[in-house]
Amino acid sequence: MSSRQTPFADDAAIVVQALADYIRESAGQAAPVIHQESLERLIDQLDLRRHLAQGDLSGESLKRFVTDYLAATTRLHHPGFLAHQVAVPHPTGALGSLIDGATNNAMAIYEMGPAAASIEYFMVNWMLEKIGWRGVPSNRQLDPQSLHAGGVLTHGGSLANLTALLAARSARVPTFWKSGNPGNLLVLVPEQSHYSMKRAVAILGLGEDNCLTLPADADGRVLPSAMERQISELQSRGKRIMAIVANACGTAAGLYDPLPEIAAICRRHAIWLHVDAAHGGGALVSDKLRHLLAGIDQADSVVWDAHKMMCTPTVCAGVLVRDHRHLDHAFEQEASYLLHAKDQPGFDFISRTVECTKAGLGLRLFMTIAAMGEQGLAGHVEGLVQRAREAAELITGRPGFELAIRPETNILCFRIDGDDHIQLEIRRRLLERGDFYISSTLYKGRRWLRLVFMNPATSLNDIRTLLDEITDIHSRID
Ligand SMILES: *Cc1c(COP(=O)(O)O)cnc(C)c1O
Repeated sequence: MSSRQTPFADDAAIVVQALADYIRESAGQAAPVIHQESLERLIDQLDLRRHLAQGDLSGESLKRFVTDYLAATTRLHHPGFLAHQVAVPHPTGALGSLIDGATNNAMAIYEMGPAAASIEYFMVNWMLEKIGWRGVPSNRQLDPQSLHAGGVLTHGGSLANLTALLAARSARVPTFWKSGNPGNLLVLVPEQSHYSMKRAVAILGLGEDNCLTLPADADGRVLPSAMERQISELQSRGKRIMAIVANACGTAAGLYDPLPEIAAICRRHAIWLHVDAAHGGGALVSDKLRHLLAGIDQADSVVWDAHKMMCTPTVCAGVLVRDHRHLDHAFEQEASYLLHAKDQPGFDFISRTVECTKAGLGLRLFMTIAAMGEQGLAGHVEGLVQRAREAAELITGRPGFELAIRPETNILCFRIDGDDHIQLEIRRRLLERGDFYISSTLYKGRRWLRLVFMNPATSLNDIRTLLDEITDIHSRID
């Protein structure tokens, strides 16, 4: 067994060089965007058993492993990556993940990672202020009576949605924590809601059957004018609405729900409003696009993923509440001011999250934005949306193609002549060719091909090539 230790700096240089080559090759389309070997073959190819037994992952052996690993990845830096809502990570943000991994500061307790905790505090406030809320004052400025917003970064939007609904449950049904479900609670979610909402309702003990769908217009947006009727009908049957969820934006087609109207109804009935802005929150950084989220400051809670439109490596999600006390109380009814109770120079985030040991998620977000600059980030988001809208026009003008709806953000759904099965078959064959990686979705009762513009390097010319390939594949299907 080898016990040779190559210095960290040498191994890091090997890995970073391999990654730099990988990013360049991917951007230059020197390898397919997607290529799926079988799991058994990959375990063999990557020599996993031997490496485990020999403990030799250093120097030349490390280089070979990293090269083989990268060859088997799905390449997000490839301009043909159009499939999912995952950021093409900014390289400086990725260095944030490296620093976090190497230091392992479990920062949910301030003394375990003062730098990471300070950055999380700072970035949470940055997000709160983008929503239009008052950030958390620092310990020294804190007046316990002062009203301000609050938040925490957590490992992804799904966990963030669960945390936000937990805050709603604690605020609206404080007895639930100790005594359990009173039995008549409901959560109303948009027709187009992410599956994590229904899961959260079930995990929280309400029962999936008590996650009901809000009325929607023909495009699947929440229809406020029909909400009053639904609410009074449910209330007349003795039901209690614990929370209403709105999308900003929805996952399938990227549509933003009308937040001001929904918020007004929630306020009238004292119902908690949760806005799932996991994907679409990115538009808040742009003066040109933030109108899409007008009214978001009326929400009680918001979830906003940095690892979607904001170039940040996975995962980094903000759980943000208008009144910070609701997050303090979410995990423990008696937890008032746990965050601020200790005599210490910073905050403990631990009382606000499901996690105990927590990565320094703020660092990757901070380093990403600090490398691009806020203007650079705004330009990035605007560019993705702009390209989706231009691609929509391209598709509209093309015979045999149909657009689902004009995109409001960087998500675009379309289809080609034929039934649902044809769309899936086209996607399958497209992925096999490896020039493009796209997704598909059910929307308005039909199957659509779906493009998510995440890569700033994807050009309109790439989209022309994509449409040509789809036309070609379509002509070969009998
Ligand atoms: C992506 C997404 C989620 C889930 O977030 P993850 O970070 O993938 O867990 C939830 N809601 C919406 C609207 C999303 O787009």
